[in-house]
Amino acid sequence: MKIAIMGKIHDDGLDILKNNNCEIIQISNFDEEYLKKNLIDVNGIVIRTAILKSNILAECNKLKIVSRHGVGYDNIDTEYLKKNQIALGITGTSNAVSVAEHVMTMFLYLAKKIYISHELTKNGKFNDRNNIPDFFELYKKNILIFGFGRIGKEVAKRCNGFDANVYVYDPYINDSDIKNNDCYPIDKDEGLKIADYITIHLPLNEKTKNFISFEQIKNLKKDSIIVNTARGGIVNEEALYIALKEKKIGGAGLDVFDIEPPIKNHLLFSLENIILTPHNAALTLECRKRMAKEACENVYYYLSNNNKLNKRNILMN
Ligand code: NAD
Repeated sequence: MKIAIMGKIHDDGLDILKNNNCEIIQISNFDEEYLKKNLIDVNGIVIRTAILKSNILAECNKLKIVSRHGVGYDNIDTEYLKKNQIALGITGTSNAVSVAEHVMTMFLYLAKKIYISHELTKNGKFNDRNNIPDFFELYKKNILIFGFGRIGKEVAKRCNGFDANVYVYDPYINDSDIKNNDCYPIDKDEGLKIADYITIHLPLNEKTKNFISFEQIKNLKKDSIIVNTARGGIVNEEALYIALKEKKIGGAGLDVFDIEPPIKNHLLFSLENIILTPHNAALTLECRKRMAKEACENVYYYLSNNNKLNKRNILMN
């Protein structure tokens, strides 16, 4: 079987395909014409964040499965896959812990205003430590989680470890499931009013685009902190910029952007009360290994009809 690997993945994944005598083509050029030519006879595609539109998929005459190295699949034309009975795999058991730890890192960095303390310590202003603006604990604070799937649940566990009050908004999950995880179900507007910390774990779609925009941000508490590791566009960047600039909220952490990579001199870069990372919340070494293995296993086992699949990894077939 012939498998295309779109983007660089850890060797642990490639080894699975090599050991099973698959033909591998590595693709790092994502130009449409190049893709059309090179994907024409592949049986499976392992893909990171490159875009796979229907015009390219239409050229893939032998394609049976697209296997995402990750869990979001907004970069792939899933309608086309459905219509043409091409399976879609995700690495559903790989990256929740890594992303959840990233969220906790951002919460703590922003809550403790580490960016101020770091500068002060380096710059001979040690004794100014009593003049730093107020900084905060997570203990007994209200943490609001949007989306209680794989990642949202891992974040909740860690926040409960800090003895915070963890609230969840996810209308697709039973309240009992939320309560069984020691969290409180809450509705969106009420949650935004009481939250000290907010973290987003939703898919990007028509319903979640601008999920947090001007209207929502105006109701946030003055020192509240918002973290988005889900997808750019869920939090409106302009509304966020204004709120941070005018110090209407305490801080923000972003791993994802409307346009990736963000433009040079993006307005958000000029702010102090923000921490930005290049969509790498799931790129710890451990997570890269897990994702590469799971993405390659999904494609290999699916194509070899070996029924060893973890069902939740194949979303459509
Ligand atoms: P998941 O599918 O397990 O969970 C998503 C949850 O969101 C579900 O419980 C669903 O019921 C809920 N939801 C959907 N629409 C909603 C709405 N309108 N309002 C409230 N809740 C809604 O997904 P996951 O694995 O937890 O991933 C969550 C997000 O994180 C995805 O957008 C994914 O692309 C992103 N992600 C980012 C990175 C990164 O590197 N930054 C890594 C992994 C995942």
